[in-house]
Amino acid sequence: MTSLKGKTALVTGSTSGIGLGIARALAGQGADIVLNGFGDAGEIEKLRKGLIDEFKVKAIYALADMSKPDEIYAMVKNALAELGRIDVLVNNAGIQHVAPIQDFPIDRWDAVIAINLSASFHTIRAALPDMLKRNWGRIINIASAHGLVASVQKVAYIAAKHGLVGLTKVVALETATTGVTCNAICPGWVLTPMVQKQVDARVSEKKIPLEKAKLDLLSEKQPSHEFVTPEQLAGLAVFLCSEAATQMRGAALSMDGGWTAQ
Ligand code: NAD
Repeated sequence: MTSLKGKTALVTGSTSGIGLGIARALAGQGADIVLNGFGDAGEIEKLRKGLIDEFKVKAIYALADMSKPDEIYAMVKNALAELGRIDVLVNNAGIQHVAPIQDFPIDRWDAVIAINLSASFHTIRAALPDMLKRNWGRIINIASAHGLVASVQKVAYIAAKHGLVGLTKVVALETATTGVTCNAICPGWVLTPMVQKQVDARVSEKKIPLEKAKLDLLSEKQPSHEFVTPEQLAGLAVFLCSEAATQMRGAALSMDGGWTAQ
């Protein structure tokens, strides 16, 4: 158990998938939560109330678009005003676009870089001074196996995730003598809405059943042939928040069913 009671965690892109899994796990350790991300307002309100009821923590929601720096700075400012502190920052919001580079739309390149890379620069820039003031903080950047190795047709995503691993190392070095740590988690395939789209594309392109499409996707990259789950990733995030992880700094931690061992 890692008690995060009295601490606050801001998790970007936490209305779905991995971010939601991490927000729930951090709330489970007692952290107050700032939820962020897109989705149906009623559903998001249910998620927020669910955290409060289930884990007896405070939870607020910030509708900030991670592609817009002004909204990111306003989100951090409001979180500090409403909850008084940010101790854990999880940079998780992300999008994907799949196309060969010569057909890659310029606006998709800009959006992927903004949300998957630049947003983390802005959130850390905005939240770090508060962490340094108390000399304790945990910054966790959700990169990807694609932060370490490449695949075809994902030029913006892979450039952004490699960039995020580099950003993680710089922040870790700049905070190395403080109580703030910064690390990246590099998941393999996780069956979230982001990956479901890629599975569905295989179903229609290859005219194969859904289960075959999932195995097809997994067996190309992930030797375990099993998806990583948001709960497993959340377990690693909770560990990174523990005192045992104090000297983990600037690491890019794979949880990828063996993908990058190959
Ligand atoms: P998801 O689509 O389920 O969730 C993405 C979250 O980001 C959602 O809450 C969404 O609303 C939010 N988001 C998207 N654009 C946003 C914006 N402009 N502003 C604010 N929020 C925004 O995807 P996921 O699979 O849970 O992905 C979470 C992170 O994990 C991403 O950074 C992704 O690159 C990374 N990742 C996913 C996988 C995987 O296999 N699913 C693997 C490795 C890394």
